[in-house]
Amino acid sequence: MPVFDVICECGSAECMEPISVAYSDYEAVRADSLNFIIKPGHAIEAVESVIKHEEGFEVVRKSVPVPIRIALESDPRG
Ligand SMILES: [Zn+2]
Repeated sequence: MPVFDVICECGSAECMEPISVAYSDYEAVRADSLNFIIKPGHAIEAVESVIKHEEGFEVVRKSVPVPIRIALESDPRG
């Protein structure tokens, strides 16, 4: 199964922890724009809640908008 690295998307803007995740798992999580992959234990309860525990990562659902993410997705380089 193809695996690639994503950067932890927990509530800490400083967090740059890489996470190895199967591409199919990542696609499944990101099918919902409020769901993100984080390192286990990184969830910040004020802004996100863990909805799934997986091998090597957790899936959180954000309860507030994520400005950093929006900035990345509107990057004109794409
Ligand atoms: Zn993190």
